[in-house]
Amino acid sequence: MKICRYDDDRIGLVQDDYVTDITALYRSIISNEETLGDKLIIHLADLRTRIQNASNLEKRPVSDVALKSPLKTPTKIIAAPVNFGRHIEEMQQQGLADGFEMDIRKAGLFLKATSALVGPSEGVALRFPDRRNDHEVELVAVIGKTGTNIPTQDALNYVAAYTLGLDMTVRGKEDRSFRKSIDSFAVLGPWLVTSDEISDTTNLDFSLSVNGEPRQQANTSDMVLGVAELIAFASTFYTLHPGDVIYTGSPAGVGPVHAGDTMYASAPSIGSMTVNVRNHSL
Ligand code: MN
Repeated sequence: MKICRYDDDRIGLVQDDYVTDITALYRSIISNEETLGDKLIIHLADLRTRIQNASNLEKRPVSDVALKSPLKTPTKIIAAPVNFGRHIEEMQQQGLADGFEMDIRKAGLFLKATSALVGPSEGVALRFPDRRNDHEVELVAVIGKTGTNIPTQDALNYVAAYTLGLDMTVRGKEDRSFRKSIDSFAVLGPWLVTSDEISDTTNLDFSLSVNGEPRQQANTSDMVLGVAELIAFASTFYTLHPGDVIYTGSPAGVGPVHAGDTMYASAPSIGSMTVNVRNHSL
């Protein structure tokens, strides 16, 4: 099942090239109680049941809707640094590694602000166009249920869905959480693919091009810590809640973007998204 958020806070079921509006179904099941996490994920199983029993819902071509971040209120965005060997090598070659630990088991994970979340239709806005602003395309796992100290062998049972992320980055010496939390620097999309549709997280192709030029082409088999290991690792520090997001790390090929550029991120098992870059205007 593919679920998107679009236009003015609408929820959609994506099938082939169409979006079916399931906003009314969604709103009929979400509760007003204050629980930690993203309501779409908290109520995903219930939503799936309602969808199976629904009929006569409105459909529109996916190209006609404005795709937003599929998640709205995750309690945290967790991200993995230095999780692909060839990305570590390019960081060292380009002088981006100085002062940073290159072993993820020692470096740990980092957090991005949830206020940085955007969907593909909103694009990325550069606040420091004179500095180097890089794309990092990453597979993103979305946590489905609350857990802490999760064993690796049980970790994938905690995943509700997968999606693609752009961990946008202004390069520099500041703390990662500072440089990577600029508004719009956490792109998610094009939609959620529920975990039952992804049979093997250790062999997923994904890629990114800028203005049609290939930049990043990768497979999750090259990750230092796989999805399950990252979830287990994160949960030794944090309780994970439904809707929490884990950016699983950038492969090699990171490079700068500028206002006017168009990024295209794609994964055959998930989908693709086009994201425009502009300068931030005050
Ligand atoms: Mn990253």
